[in-house]
Amino acid sequence: MASQKDYYDILGVRRGATEEEIEKAYQKLARTYYFDPHGGNKTAEIRFREISEAYDILSNKKKRERYDRLGLEVSSPNFCWEYGPEEGEKEKPDFAGFEDVFGRSFISGEGRASQPQKGRDFHCTVEIGLGKTIQGLVQEVQVQRENPCPGCGGRGVDPAGLKKVCDECGGAGQVQIGLAPAAFLQICARCHGRGKIQIQLCESCSGKGRLTQRESVYLAIPSGVADGCRIYLKRMGQAGKNGGPRGDLVVNIQVKKHPLFHRIGDDLHLEVPLAFWEAALGAEVEVPFLEGRMILTIPPGVQSGERMRLQGKGVPHLHGDGRGDQVISFKIVVPRDWDERAKEILGELKRLNPENPRKGWRWHD
Ligand SMILES: [Zn+2]
Ligand SMILES: [Zn+2]
Repeated sequence: MASQKDYYDILGVRRGATEEEIEKAYQKLARTYYFDPHGGNKTAEIRFREISEAYDILSNKKKRERYDRLGLEVSSPNFCWEYGPEEGEKEKPDFAGFEDVFGRSFISGEGRASQPQKGRDFHCTVEIGLGKTIQGLVQEVQVQRENPCPGCGGRGVDPAGLKKVCDECGGAGQVQIGLAPAAFLQICARCHGRGKIQIQLCESCSGKGRLTQRESVYLAIPSGVADGCRIYLKRMGQAGKNGGPRGDLVVNIQVKKHPLFHRIGDDLHLEVPLAFWEAALGAEVEVPFLEGRMILTIPPGVQSGERMRLQGKGVPHLHGDGRGDQVISFKIVVPRDWDERAKEILGELKRLNPENPRKGWRWHD
C-alpha cells in the first residue's frame, strides 16, 4: 500500500468514516480546491482531480468495499464484445431450416463434422489514467458469454416437446448400408436410433442451444503498462465446440493523455514554465509527480530547455524492478505586457548587463 494513493488521506478522513463524514470532507475540499480550467493553476487542478477520484471511490459502497479489501481501485466496468462471427456458424435457426440445422448438428456430435473448434476470442479496450500505470489496478470487465442451455442440455430442442418420425430411417432407427448379401444395418445417424426427431425448439434458448450470460471478469492490470499493451487472458473467451478449447479474452490497454506528463519509454517528461526572474535568481517551485507534489530548487541562471532528472519518479518497468525517471525541462516565460515602471526597471537591467547573448555567432564560415 505504501506507494499507492490513500484515498482516506486525500480526503482527510479516518478509515471507518461514515458516508456523511466523507460527503462533508469532500464538499469542503472541493470548494477549497475548485479550479478554473482556464485559470492555469495546474497544482490546484491535480489536487482537485485527486480529491474527485477519492470521493468517487469512497462515496460508492461497492467501490469502497473493494478498495478497502484489495487496496486497489476498481473502475467502473468496461464492456467486452465478441470479435467477428465464427466460421460457418448459423446464429439463429429459423423454423424452415430447422431440421436441416439440427440434422447436421446432431450428426456432428459423433459424425464427420466433429472437429474440435476453439471458441471465439473476446476483445475489449480498457482506458486507464496515466496515474494508474504507476500502481496497477484491478479492472472489472464484463463479457457476454454463451453457455450451454441448461433447459435442453445444449441441444436446442425441447426434450418433452413434439416429435416426428425420422425421414432418414422411416422410424426404424436403423439404416441399411450396402446391398445384400453384403448389407449390414447401422444405427441411424439422424435420429440416433430413436426413430423420431424432436421438432419443438427449446423455449429458454429459442433453439440456439446456448444462452448468453453477462459475466464479470476481474483483470489485474500490472503497474508499468503502456498505451497499446495487450493483455491475454487465456481461456476466458467463448466456449469451444466439440470439446475444443475456450477462446481468449484480449484486453487492449489505452492510456489516457495526461494534461501535464508526456511518457517516453518509462520516463515521464514534464515542462515547467519559469518566470524569467525565477530563472535568473533561482526559485523554489512546486512541481507535480504522478503520486504527489514536491518542491524543486531551481538554481540561479537556469536556461530555457535545460533539464533535470528526478531518478525513479517515472513509470515502473513492466518487466523487472525499478522505475523510469521524471525528466523536467524548463521553459522561460516572458510576460507580454509591461507597465511603465516595469519598463524602466528593465531598461536599467539592460544598462547594467550590456552582454550580447549572440556574441559568439559567426556568419561567414
Ligand atoms: Zn435450450
Ligand atoms: Zn432415423
